[in-house]
Amino acid sequence: MSEAAGRTQAFQADVARLLHLMVHSIYSDKDIFLRELLSNAADACEKLRYEALSDPGLAAPPKIVIALDRDAGTLSVEDNGVGMSAQELAESLGTIARSGTRAFLDKLGAAEREAQDGEDAEAQPDAPDDSFGRKSPQADLIGQFGIGFYSAFMVANRVDVYSRRAGSEEANLWSSDGKGEFTVSPVPLEEAPEHGTRVVLHLTEAAKADLDEARVERIVREHSSALAAPVEIIAQKGGEPRRLSDGQALWTRPKSAITPEEYADFYRTLSGRFDEPALTIHWRAEGRHEYTVLAFVPSSRPFDLFSGEPTGRGKLYVRHVLITDDAEILPRWLRFVKIVVDSADIPLNVSREMIQESPVFAAIRKAVAGRILQELGKFAEHEPEKFAEVWKNFGAVLKEGLYEAPEKRDALFAIARFATSTHQDGGRTLKDYVAGLRENQTAIYYLLGDDVKRLAASPQIEGFSARGVEVLLLPDPVDAFWVQTAAGFEGKPFKSVSQGAADIAAIPLLEPKEETEEAARPADLAVLFALMKQTLEDAVEDVRASDRLAQSPVCLIAPESGLDRRLERLLAEHGQLGAAGKPILEVNPKHPLIEALAKLVAQPDKTRLEDVVWLLYDEARLMEGEKPQSAPDFASRLTRVLIDAVRTGA
Ligand code: ADP
Ligand code: MG
Repeated sequence: MSEAAGRTQAFQADVARLLHLMVHSIYSDKDIFLRELLSNAADACEKLRYEALSDPGLAAPPKIVIALDRDAGTLSVEDNGVGMSAQELAESLGTIARSGTRAFLDKLGAAEREAQDGEDAEAQPDAPDDSFGRKSPQADLIGQFGIGFYSAFMVANRVDVYSRRAGSEEANLWSSDGKGEFTVSPVPLEEAPEHGTRVVLHLTEAAKADLDEARVERIVREHSSALAAPVEIIAQKGGEPRRLSDGQALWTRPKSAITPEEYADFYRTLSGRFDEPALTIHWRAEGRHEYTVLAFVPSSRPFDLFSGEPTGRGKLYVRHVLITDDAEILPRWLRFVKIVVDSADIPLNVSREMIQESPVFAAIRKAVAGRILQELGKFAEHEPEKFAEVWKNFGAVLKEGLYEAPEKRDALFAIARFATSTHQDGGRTLKDYVAGLRENQTAIYYLLGDDVKRLAASPQIEGFSARGVEVLLLPDPVDAFWVQTAAGFEGKPFKSVSQGAADIAAIPLLEPKEETEEAARPADLAVLFALMKQTLEDAVEDVRASDRLAQSPVCLIAPESGLDRRLERLLAEHGQLGAAGKPILEVNPKHPLIEALAKLVAQPDKTRLEDVVWLLYDEARLMEGEKPQSAPDFASRLTRVLIDAVRTGA
């Protein structure tokens, strides 16, 4: 007998916490407990099917039976799958193995800390009992996750799990009231399934009243009809089993025989999420390789899209046998797609690892990524509004493909949507952009940053707007990378508006400006620029006049040969770059302030002038979301200038 058996053990701390949440019913849709138990039962059947490949003696047609016993007040779910040893019972049901649950708890911790920071000291983030009434972080979050086995404690005050590992001569009982401890003890073989697991829920009073045959049947039909094992129900003790679903895997059925609801349920089972799929893609490939693919694009953004290991994992079956639910099927930039691939021609008798390294699998992966991108293209064309949602959620991930998969760039450019200076709400394609090119415009202009609103207010784009030139506003970190490597679109190169010279003088202004009397004399400007450069000597590489500006007096620009300032900042944040290079201060010679300053250069006392120059430089920094070079200096200069202004009655 293994040493895990016959002992009372404490739950891992995280489990205890999760259980506390379950017991206090923070999730209102309690029906999901059955979905979770059925999905575990089906998984166990699939695991056995896989083990039977190397040990045919274990093979058995899969079956799941739900039994209701009104007198005992129990509901049980029994499978004839792989079962668990004493050790496995303690590990699987006493710790948190799944990454989704772990992520949930991490996220929960963060949400609780936030809530606590915001609330008074009275608030008790650990007491979710009242969360039906008010919106608690737990209730918000838990809807996004499949919570697995422990959800049983939403409807049960004791759970007994009888299990016998296939091929073993021992059976064990795991039992817990969900309050911090559980026991695992050996039981006679006849008390457990021949192989597999029986989960017995001792229902709470409320659940007893709710969970009758009709209700159970409805839950099974709604949530679990696409499971890869047939489900039967025994409505009362000693009764005859009745079949609720046939256990034919959904993707093996013809598309025409599947309803949108069935697809959506399957998606939820597959993803452990609770939203609807935004796009369902289901096809059978014939020809050189034969396989079936069922893939879903979620309609909401998962919390961990940009954390964790960014790989496109999915379920890989070979002739309906689950090989692994963790196969790297998709490229990283499609990692938001939930996917099942069932191959007919990968040899089944090789190991999991070898299957994933096989040339057939490589060919399938390539074809699958291509097809999904193609389907996204069609979706974008036929249902642009729905696609816009998808792009909003996953565009930042898809754009990684622009950088990582040059061969897919054209297809990605065709679906990419952008916010621009003229369309801040987004939705512009590069085709739209190119169709709106202005006379003499030779490039596709962009500005990198963090936030579209702020980008739209950048001084760097004023001169472009004054000429009716649209500027792509690129707020995602990945943007800084793909614009460097993409050669261009329809023969037009991508060019940053915050780097190098602004070659836009040849593009006519929408409203040409008259030369005014106030215009600064070129000689004065030259002296002013020299003085500015001298003043800002350590801060900037150069000071020069610019066509880039219209309303603002100054802005900062990266030198032509260096890195874009945004990319530089990104790299510096990630410790990949020592110090950032010096920017160029560009000056709007037609701005009234600059014109006035140019007239002051002849005066002997230059202190005020220097104050103003530094303030202008700090203003340019502020407009980029940075801080003034030195806060005390900034404050004292500003104060001096204000005193002057107020005294002279300005
Ligand atoms: P998940 O199914 O996502 O892994 P669960 O909380 O639902 O998370 O289950 C935890 C683990 O317990 C499973 O991974 C599995 O190893 C084990 N398990 C649960 N139910 C069964 C079952 N009916 N048969 C065999 N193993 C099971
Ligand atoms: Mg599960």
